[in-house]
Amino acid sequence: MTRPTIANIDLAAVKANLQTLSGYAKDANLIGVVKADAYGNGAVEVARTIETSVAMLAVAFISEAIELREAGITKSILILQGPHSVEDLFQSECKDIVWLLHSKWQLDAFAGYAKSKQYKALNHQAWLKFDTGMHRLGLDIKIFDEILINYASFVNENTVLCTHLANADEVNQENALQQISGFLNIVEKTSNPLCIANSATNARFAHATKDYVRLGIALYGSTPFEKDDNPLTLTPVMSLNSQIIALRHIPKGDSVGYGSTWRAIRDSVIATVAIGYADGYPRHAPTGTPAWCNNAIIPLVGRVSMDMLTFDVTELVDVHIGDTVQLWGDKLAINKVADHIGTIGYELMTRVSKRVPRQYITKNIK
Ligand SMILES: *Cc1c(COP(=O)(O)O)cnc(C)c1O
Repeated sequence: MTRPTIANIDLAAVKANLQTLSGYAKDANLIGVVKADAYGNGAVEVARTIETSVAMLAVAFISEAIELREAGITKSILILQGPHSVEDLFQSECKDIVWLLHSKWQLDAFAGYAKSKQYKALNHQAWLKFDTGMHRLGLDIKIFDEILINYASFVNENTVLCTHLANADEVNQENALQQISGFLNIVEKTSNPLCIANSATNARFAHATKDYVRLGIALYGSTPFEKDDNPLTLTPVMSLNSQIIALRHIPKGDSVGYGSTWRAIRDSVIATVAIGYADGYPRHAPTGTPAWCNNAIIPLVGRVSMDMLTFDVTELVDVHIGDTVQLWGDKLAINKVADHIGTIGYELMTRVSKRVPRQYITKNIK
């Protein structure tokens, strides 16, 4: 018998979300972003689910692509950080890789690689990433003409030109609009295909969907937008479920957990649940962070431990050892929990640790 702590992953929901997002993408080709183990949901399983419905997959670096190839995924894969070293380019397990090159040294490395036999045999391509204000990765857009001349061995009118916006998920759209127009003003002189949008840009800025869109978080059912400013209706993918393994009555005034940070203001019923920070539940989650149990919302009390959480279930009329507690998922939106903890759905999802088995729900996949 294993511990009853499981992340249920609804693969039909991934498909449904992809469908919703493709409605915003117009004619753009869809890229399914499955980096970081598909945001904690399982890269291989998600890739298998969406492979036939997307133009490409995307991961952050080459070892994530190798994992997909070893599992038999054949779809073209975009490597969002490009190569980390020249050796990355020669990873022979990996056919049909598209390197998103973001800096001069990568252009030089790719130019050298483009002379090799492997380049053709492995069917690799390069796309270019430009910096439009995020100032994290990206070439200076002003040197585009120069790049065309100096790297003509692999850059041509079919090379996809990309950027990544710093502010697409914000209520104030001014910065994002400026970044989009700054990019378009320069690249629209060319007829090259363009790729600007992540989930937020895809949903909000129709004029920026262009030729390819890179869809990550929204595929997994968590909106990138703030709660009062959210145009997207998505289906949750991950439901993180555990169980009550102990119940106790404590008198008013007693404390719960390490450091006695929470004290009962009335006689209380405390449920101990079999999940903790070693499973990826954030240790800094404060008292009051919601979970779901028996159709009610219950508040976390006291400190998060390595393997356990404690909840105040005094208000529940019917509660038993073995009852399911959902930390987030189809009963309780991950973004609501993230708000309480002072983080975002992205972080909660990607941090669910290896110790938590993923159980895949495959029924109703269309
Ligand atoms: C992760 C990533 C994405 C996907 O972003 P979401 O906000 O999850 O949709 C798109 N583009 C790049 C460059 C990324 O690193």
